[in-house]
Amino acid sequence: MKLLLLSSLLCSASAFSPAFGDGKPHSVRLYSIASSRYGDDMTGNTASLCVRRATYWCEELKADDPAKKGICSNYLCDTAPGAEVKMTGPSGKVMLMPEEDPKTDLIMVATGTGIAPYRGFIRRLFMEETPAREAYAGEAWLFLGVANSDALLYDDEWQEAKANPTANGGKLRLDYALSREATNKKGGKMYIQDKVEEYADEVFTKLDTGAHIYFCGLKGMMPGIQDMLKEVCAGKGIDYDEWLGGLKKNKQWHVEVY
Ligand code: FAD
Repeated sequence: MKLLLLSSLLCSASAFSPAFGDGKPHSVRLYSIASSRYGDDMTGNTASLCVRRATYWCEELKADDPAKKGICSNYLCDTAPGAEVKMTGPSGKVMLMPEEDPKTDLIMVATGTGIAPYRGFIRRLFMEETPAREAYAGEAWLFLGVANSDALLYDDEWQEAKANPTANGGKLRLDYALSREATNKKGGKMYIQDKVEEYADEVFTKLDTGAHIYFCGLKGMMPGIQDMLKEVCAGKGIDYDEWLGGLKKNKQWHVEVY
């Protein structure tokens, strides 16, 4: 059976509160959908988001300035059950799972709320009773980077998924980069690129054999990742641009950063 495409498309959620102003709609903000096409209740009528509340630290006040807090994220975080939220979408085709071959390995690299689309992937592959789960025979490898263990997201769900390989041997692998709790090989903070680098040989072998790699989270994560990959390529005598070009051409390289 084919692995079905996951509804981990982006949802453009435009939410606004009358308290914020002049009655005109605010501009659209994008949020990744953190559930599969079926939603957490499997009815297909719900979608989950993982939203970070954007606050503004005022150096002069030495406190958060509520006048400058993020409009949409705070609105969503404070929204009460039953409230109407204006949304559009889904849109975007970057964070999709490959549907051709259920043996395909997935390497999912996230920082913070970048975990959102992978929650959809992982629920679909390991937690929902559907043909997609039944068919999956690859390794889905999640790298999540956060500051410390208090900031880990959905750990209970990952542990459950890890404990539930599929009938065809599909399994979840999990690695955390806790920047304020762990150190990298140079004695510095353990950032996401350091954690991926620890397994560079395996990651490269998987990519050579058709794995798809995904990056999602804050824009700032990519330069460190790219530098690390360049360094690994240099060590292996691989031409980085050619290597990356090949992954892109084969649609194995997926980046959604903001
Ligand atoms: P805005 O009102 O747009 O404000 C932006 C920032 O400016 C805030 O930090 C705010 O504090 C600051 N600010 C406001 N006023 C001032 C001022 N006067 N001076 C200086 N600074 C000020 N976010 C998620 O949480 N989860 C996701 O899954 C997610 N997915 C995304 C996917 C994509 C493809 C993209 C592009 C973005 C995604 N985002 C996601 C980010 C999200 O779209 C918003 O950008 C984010 O939530 C902030 O929106 P906001 O309305 O709360 O802040």
